[in-house]
Amino acid sequence: MKAEIIAVGSELLLGEIANTNAQYLSEWLATCGIDVHYHTVVGDNRERMIEVVTRAQERTELIVITGGLGPTEDDLTKEVVAELLSRPLYVDQPAYHRIEAFLKTRGRQMTDNEKKQALVIEGADVLTNEAGLAPGMSVHTSEHQYILLPGVPREMKRIIADHFDHLLGKETIKSRTLRFFGIGESALNDRLADLIRTARNPSVAPYAELAEVRLRLTAKALDEHVALQMLDTLERQILDEVGLHFYGYGETSLPEVVLDRCRAAGLTLSAAESLSGGAFGSALTDIAGASDVFRGSAVVYDDAAKVNVLGVPQELLDAHTAVSREAAIAMAEGARRLYQTDLAIALTGEAGPTSNSGRNVGTVYCALAQERGTEVLELTYPAFDRGMIRLRSVKDAYFLLIQNSVSTDKMGKS
Ligand code: ATP
Repeated sequence: MKAEIIAVGSELLLGEIANTNAQYLSEWLATCGIDVHYHTVVGDNRERMIEVVTRAQERTELIVITGGLGPTEDDLTKEVVAELLSRPLYVDQPAYHRIEAFLKTRGRQMTDNEKKQALVIEGADVLTNEAGLAPGMSVHTSEHQYILLPGVPREMKRIIADHFDHLLGKETIKSRTLRFFGIGESALNDRLADLIRTARNPSVAPYAELAEVRLRLTAKALDEHVALQMLDTLERQILDEVGLHFYGYGETSLPEVVLDRCRAAGLTLSAAESLSGGAFGSALTDIAGASDVFRGSAVVYDDAAKVNVLGVPQELLDAHTAVSREAAIAMAEGARRLYQTDLAIALTGEAGPTSNSGRNVGTVYCALAQERGTEVLELTYPAFDRGMIRLRSVKDAYFLLIQNSVSTDKMGKS
């Protein structure tokens, strides 16, 4: 949409005041995604105002006029616009009562000139002026929108602020959810404290889940493109700070992202599950189409299963126990061999309540085997119960895979 800003006032032409209203209006319209093509200044003169508004009608769709709504004879803005649109002026009762109440506090009667401030154009949306007496107006025709605002800067800004939401039509609201893993809500809040506190538009709202945090970013603008740009900027600021923990957008989940990333990179996946008892594979197979990535999971709960199914050496288990770095590596490599996959995860640990291996309850080893070698994470979850330890370790395994898989950024971004 193209806009023209018309500032009305002979003082402006005489150089007695600077046209700061036009600057303010231009900035406001730019944030709304509206292109301002012309700034015009015209004195308090009927013929020249008609000429200027007529020219604006020929070259723009949105005409914002500031000034000339006051009580004196030379305040002509609404008279000129009403005449050009062939619409009558009528007394807006709320504006009339405001003027009446104001004058009462001063012990005065209303003059005709003061009453003139309550006149509005038929069919206009009347924009109440909480900072003064003359209301603003928004008038729509089939081809144009006219926004009439007082010249007093304080009043003009107040009207824009109060009526922002509907002044230029319906705002677009765009939201984007960023998902993080491995950082608690309070840690994330601490790292993003300034952003979260000061962000109004776009706003940021955190939601916590087990070992996960979602940040919902919401931007309001009159133009969808502008709203999305606002979200992009805020997202960049957030990821500069906590990007290491970011794993996806929207309603996705860790297992979904694992499958998406593996699929995009052409990688197949399998698992050896002791501690998790099949939960790792189960959540993957909840997702339709998982079979093109996920080949299978061996639930090898006791030592004999680890030896017989995956070929983990008994001596290794005797020397290090099944809850060890060494066992995790041997399990992951065994699964990778058994299922012939590019990647294999192993999960082994002490979920409690008591320890069989001598390791502390909450000690978990998560290994990832791939062609370039096998890496192991040693995790400790001292404060969790059995169910939580198992669930959390499965999520850690997914996140390890996501960090290792080829990045396909922007997947699912809205
Ligand atoms: P009101 O309706 O509140 O009486 P108005 O609409 O009649 O105001 P003007 O009489 O044109 O507005 O201007 C009032 C005062 O507002 C001016 O004396 C000036 O101080 C300021 N003003 C007007 N136009 C501008 C402008 N374009 N930029 C900055 N200040 C302005």
